[in-house]
Amino acid sequence: MCLQKNKALKNTGRETIEGIRNILEGNKKISIIPHENPDGDAIGSALGLGQVLKNRGHNVQVISVNDYPDFLKWFSSDVPVVVYEKDKKLVKDFLFSSDVLICVDFNEEKRAGHLESMIKSFGGQKILIDHHPYPSAFCHFTVSETHYSSTAELVYDLVKELGFDNSLNSQAAEAIYTGIMTDTGGFSHNTSQNTFRVVSEILKNEINTDRIQSAVFHNFSADRMKLLGYCLNEKMQVFPEYRTAVIAITKEELDRFNFVPGDTEGFVNYPLSINNIVFSALFIEKENYVKASFRSKGNFPANTFSSEHFNGGGHLNAAGGESELSFSETLEKFTQLLPQYLHLLQRTKN
Ligand code: 5GP
Ligand code: MN
Repeated sequence: MCLQKNKALKNTGRETIEGIRNILEGNKKISIIPHENPDGDAIGSALGLGQVLKNRGHNVQVISVNDYPDFLKWFSSDVPVVVYEKDKKLVKDFLFSSDVLICVDFNEEKRAGHLESMIKSFGGQKILIDHHPYPSAFCHFTVSETHYSSTAELVYDLVKELGFDNSLNSQAAEAIYTGIMTDTGGFSHNTSQNTFRVVSEILKNEINTDRIQSAVFHNFSADRMKLLGYCLNEKMQVFPEYRTAVIAITKEELDRFNFVPGDTEGFVNYPLSINNIVFSALFIEKENYVKASFRSKGNFPANTFSSEHFNGGGHLNAAGGESELSFSETLEKFTQLLPQYLHLLQRTKN
């Protein structure tokens, strides 16, 4: 495999770049799908890439399987985001008449929830752009770079490698910046020299980073702040011997605080700022299952913990999954698993 000019694109050979460039020639109809329950990186990389492609004359839509939080709905991008759960016909019509499908920020079809079967049956060209480990081979072209902080950082380098950077305007830059900012927790983890190089290049476009920071991180309702206080004060259990903390919250408790999607985003990170805690879990009771989020420090593998016990996956230090057990059984299962990880948890550097 030929090395790229950009050495950060370690796994992406010249054939892949050229194949993608060929697919994206002319005026195409393009659907971009981020993962279910999209976060800032999923929406930011979809809109950033979508805007670049729109600026190059393509007809582009971003398709989100489900609705997403208001703090990701302020972008100046004029690429439409359609929500499958709200408008199934519109999504099917656009997707099945598209020439190209680009999947961003996920590594296997099932992460697209109810869009999984449509991704499988899509007849046009499929491209995957992602930074999660162990991508499955479900697309014609895969750009998988797991050392990138975010898919958005990768989108920027890919756009540049394709020679499309002259189509990157401030609307695209704003979305890409947001993806990098959110996946690194405000540039506090997973950053590299490449991350800051990309950010500094992005900032050649006029974007208001203070406004982005405020729109994403300082946009909570009073109810959400009270829910956070309640979780930390009354729901967090700390197991110092296992260097672990867990927060578990029921549907009834969420209702009490007028929960809206996105309200619990980031809660799982708080226990990691406790001295000597290296593993944090958050369990949230949903209608028919319990959603799990895991965060870790050092080399404790949140992703393998999640894939082995909670039908999930993700990155080494940030993973998610779910449980079909009842809420209380899920919490019990989690605490009962800790002793078998004692050795690993004790060895983990923080
Ligand atoms: P979060 O805890 O914010 O939902 O997710 C953290 C990380 O784990 C993200 O990288 C996300 O893509 C991944 N992730 C979350 N839920 C799941 C899941 O159910 N399955 C898999 N494979 N990955 C997940
Ligand atoms: Mn991501």
